[in-house]
Amino acid sequence: MASNFFDDVNYYFDEASRHTDVASDILDQIRACNAVYRMRFPVRRDDGTIEVVQGYRAEHSHHRLPTKGGVRYAPDVTQGEVMALAALMTYKCAIVDVPFGGAKGGVCIDPRNASASFLERVTRRYASELIRKRFIGPDVDVPAPDVGTGEREMGWIYDTYKSQGPDTLNALACVTGKATTIHGIEGRREATGLGAVIALEYFLSEPEDVKPLGLDTGLAAKRVIVQGLGKVGLHATRAAIERDAIVVGVSVSDGALYDSGGLDVEAVLTHRAELGSLRGFPGARYLADPDAILEEPCDVLIPAALQHQITAQNAPRVQAKVIVEAANGPVDPEADSILREAGAVILPDIYANAGGVVVSYFEWIKNLSHVSFERMTRRYQQLANNRLLDVLTRLTGKTLPPEDAALLLRAPNEIDFVHTALENTMAISYEKIRDRWKRQGLPDLRTSAYLGAIETVASAYTLDGIFP
Ligand code: NAD
Repeated sequence: MASNFFDDVNYYFDEASRHTDVASDILDQIRACNAVYRMRFPVRRDDGTIEVVQGYRAEHSHHRLPTKGGVRYAPDVTQGEVMALAALMTYKCAIVDVPFGGAKGGVCIDPRNASASFLERVTRRYASELIRKRFIGPDVDVPAPDVGTGEREMGWIYDTYKSQGPDTLNALACVTGKATTIHGIEGRREATGLGAVIALEYFLSEPEDVKPLGLDTGLAAKRVIVQGLGKVGLHATRAAIERDAIVVGVSVSDGALYDSGGLDVEAVLTHRAELGSLRGFPGARYLADPDAILEEPCDVLIPAALQHQITAQNAPRVQAKVIVEAANGPVDPEADSILREAGAVILPDIYANAGGVVVSYFEWIKNLSHVSFERMTRRYQQLANNRLLDVLTRLTGKTLPPEDAALLLRAPNEIDFVHTALENTMAISYEKIRDRWKRQGLPDLRTSAYLGAIETVASAYTLDGIFP
């Protein structure tokens, strides 16, 4: 039987709590979900009839404000699922040192079978419900994309907030993951998938951790399977290929492809766009059951679709030595034990997919500052580099080859700031998680990541005190 997602998160929390001396009453407060707004509202369908739509917004922890987390559109979203995802956001933000509490939203609709105008009505009404109950605002709670939502929905939420919300000056910061044309940030689109691959690179850089798995260090030539080619999976795939990994398998909700020699993923995408299916892609083995891809031979498995994909049922047949949880909750606790006993290493969701919230944080700062990161520094940086090149040329009497000069004179864009800051954050966080794992002899990276998050949130309660 499938486990309950919120119970799973609390199971991991409790396991990690055994290694801390944080007081049990503080632990109780941290693990509880502080507030859930469950709503039902009517939305007119395209044919004029009314659909009663169910939605949720869970705010798991207010130890830092605003709370932050995506909005999921799926027909079977539950309150427990949204609470679990909100809890993961709390721990994720703590791990990557982003000053937010955790939240998550969900709306029970199937976006694949809905017109854009119906989706717009649902999104605006959902946003309006959040405004009425103060479950949204730049300093209150800031949604972002998750499964089934994207830049378009974030734009509608922003526009609704701008029209109805209490704070118009900072309205842009009420939601992240917006299109760059409405003051989103370059690099947000790929942030989660890219962050997951950066996490993988850091894990693979430590010979001491990689050798016991029978692998060499480095991502180059590693055989990778990615489950799900949505916003996260697609960019994880591209980032892995850019780093010379061999993507041997990919899956979508209605099928999968495997080719031990490596897939041309851009050609796979074109094939699917033209034929509506992965079936018939030349040179690769087609699997009609998409979940079968999880059991194919590879070094690294990146589940990037949904929770509960690896359970006690299929875990014994998973062959990957490293599992990167780009999705939230893809490995349930039973599977987690089975995989670890088999010697695999899991990079846990609360660290591995934190790239999205890191770059959302940058977008929120940009929106509150009302200025982009590059605008104040780009030209100055270019002039400084020019001067440096002049001095070098004068002192040495030599001129740099044109390609080196061009590299030096290239001024940074927003994307450069975002990518380097994302990598820096993922690197610092990994160092801390790994260091605690080794120093305290913890069972795994997940326990270490949870422990770090628990201690960070606990220190906020201890240092801020408890109201009243
Ligand atoms: P998305 O809706 O863009 O993509 C999800 C994809 O998974 C869809 O294309 C869907 O067809 C596919 N899918 C569903 N079931 C599948 C199956 N059994 N096999 C293969 N593919 C399947 O959603 P997303 O934003 O990419 O989110 C994916 C996961 O990453 C979720 O767990 C989400 O919570 C997590 N996540 C997302 C972000 C973000 O920034 N979007 C950040 C952190 C974590």
